[in-house]
Amino acid sequence: MGKILEIDLSTDLVKEREVKKDFAVKYVGGRGWGARMLYDILFDKIRAFDRFRFMDVALSPENVLIVATGPLTGLYFPAAGKTSLVSISPATGIYADSNFGGMFGVELKQAGYDAIVIRGAARSLKYVYINDDVVEIRDASAYEGKGCMETERRIKEEIGDESVRVACIGPAGENLVRFACVTTEWGRNAGRTGMGAVLGAKKLKAIAVQGSKDIPVHDLEAFISVSNKGYEYLRQHFLFDLWQRQGLMSVVDYINTMGVLPTYNYRHGVFGRADDINGETMERRYKIGDSACFACSMCCGNICLVKEGKYAGTVVEGPEYETACMFGPNLGVDDFSCIVRANYLCDDLGIDTITAGNLIAALTEAYEAGIVKKEDLGFELRWGDCDRILELLEMIARRESIGDVLAEGAYGVLQKWGEMRRLISHVKFLEQTGYDAHVSLCMALAYATCDIGAHHNRAWPIAKELEVGAEWGVEEKVHLVIYHQTVRPLFDMLGVCRLPWIELGMDEKLYAEAYTAATGVETSLEELLKRSKMVYNLTRSISVLLGVRRRDDYPPERVFEESLRGGPHDGAKLDKRAYEEALNLYYELRGWDENGIPMEETLVQCGLEDVAAAIKELREGRQEK
Ligand code: SF4
Repeated sequence: MGKILEIDLSTDLVKEREVKKDFAVKYVGGRGWGARMLYDILFDKIRAFDRFRFMDVALSPENVLIVATGPLTGLYFPAAGKTSLVSISPATGIYADSNFGGMFGVELKQAGYDAIVIRGAARSLKYVYINDDVVEIRDASAYEGKGCMETERRIKEEIGDESVRVACIGPAGENLVRFACVTTEWGRNAGRTGMGAVLGAKKLKAIAVQGSKDIPVHDLEAFISVSNKGYEYLRQHFLFDLWQRQGLMSVVDYINTMGVLPTYNYRHGVFGRADDINGETMERRYKIGDSACFACSMCCGNICLVKEGKYAGTVVEGPEYETACMFGPNLGVDDFSCIVRANYLCDDLGIDTITAGNLIAALTEAYEAGIVKKEDLGFELRWGDCDRILELLEMIARRESIGDVLAEGAYGVLQKWGEMRRLISHVKFLEQTGYDAHVSLCMALAYATCDIGAHHNRAWPIAKELEVGAEWGVEEKVHLVIYHQTVRPLFDMLGVCRLPWIELGMDEKLYAEAYTAATGVETSLEELLKRSKMVYNLTRSISVLLGVRRRDDYPPERVFEESLRGGPHDGAKLDKRAYEEALNLYYELRGWDENGIPMEETLVQCGLEDVAAAIKELREGRQEK
């Protein structure tokens, strides 16, 4: 039920293996397959080292990177072009994954592979070229230090085929910046958790793939029928047109109106000049085209061009909401052309825009507060100073001066300036994304219990809570977070984008029908959700074995300690006692103990008997550390 390509860069060994049917079905695909393979491959090391040791192991040949498609990737189904990258993060030292859309995973499946496992490290810079069954490890020295844009273009030229799909790293990945990303198609990024640094440590500049095979579908007629239902539903949705025109940029106004738009480093909830950086401004003054991932009619990618001013000529696919928020309001920037330029630089240098914007905002506040001095930076740092922000991005990617400190991520910055503890919004050392949690218990819990750190992709309950949750008790809020954390990871496992569901409300049951039609495995949505829940328990267990406990399951201190300023929630902050109550209930409903460790019976019930045994050993103090 699938084929895995195994590449060991230390020995140049390349081999294929078939995936056993029970494994394929149990873990579904994508991040489900990736998490299980990671656990199996790294089990001895996960038992032996704690997460802080693993931050360095993650950047050694001992780490492994798994690139995994899902059973729907590459098929005619709404937004079915996603590929997951799974590893231990060099930024957090715990379980991590990130994914990108575009065409890479589609091409990989057309080459006959469902996943790639990359081990070891090359002695000099290489790239892997997969052309159906022929796999070569090629010299990449000509691309050393080159940006992602040039690397992708030149690898296509070297192979002599424009249609080759390339995923690559930029200078940030080569320089082991702990939040380096992996980029494909000039701007579709596996952005979070430092997967680019993992590739950089393996001296793997890129993977290029070309495939000519058909992707098998068990019942083509049934599959087309269910897909058509999905496309038809989306086409008729009243927000479909807005999504095609603005994509995620339409969220700027919504979040600003709700009063939870991160502004001046998560201190204010509204940005007075949001009109200058919102979806409408983008559409009217910058947008020159659309882009979409494979098979996606929502087509949320915006191609933007800066037509005038000092950044004139910059073209980028983006920005989307997170980038606009992090390089806009959160840095006091009201110039959309600056955001476009920052987006371009991050894509080319291979840096996660969320972490970069978040850390530069924290540094700006630290400078304002006198924690970081001009002597530390070599320059002054003010809110909204675009040139300085762009300069810092280059310095991070090349690890120059202060850029070398920022390149270490939240953990490294806090090692140098412990006084910045309250200024850096992060969970488990992954920097927070673009939704302020001062007034949302749901969002605070979602960030705090997300298995990779402060990311919204596992649960985005803030909109529902703020729209209709005013009278909710803690129980309803906790249930909503767990519901999101159960449904949303399923999309990563299937290899589809979650946006048709979360933004336009596509029926969840269609995914189960599509899975059955594609694979021939009879299932139901309930069954798939059980598997998703199991994978959440597995990824939590990996991080628990590496040392994560209750103390790590808290939102950034700022939401409890400082009131939000401005807008409808001026003066609000989160009640710590209510949060403790929610966390207790969350653990209880999850079947984890009061310290956040999954109970053995919970793991056994969901089919993870061997993981239960490892947790039992940990509980009895027999795990080596
Ligand atoms: S909604 Fe956007 S990100 Fe998702 S698959 Fe479609 S184009 Fe890609």
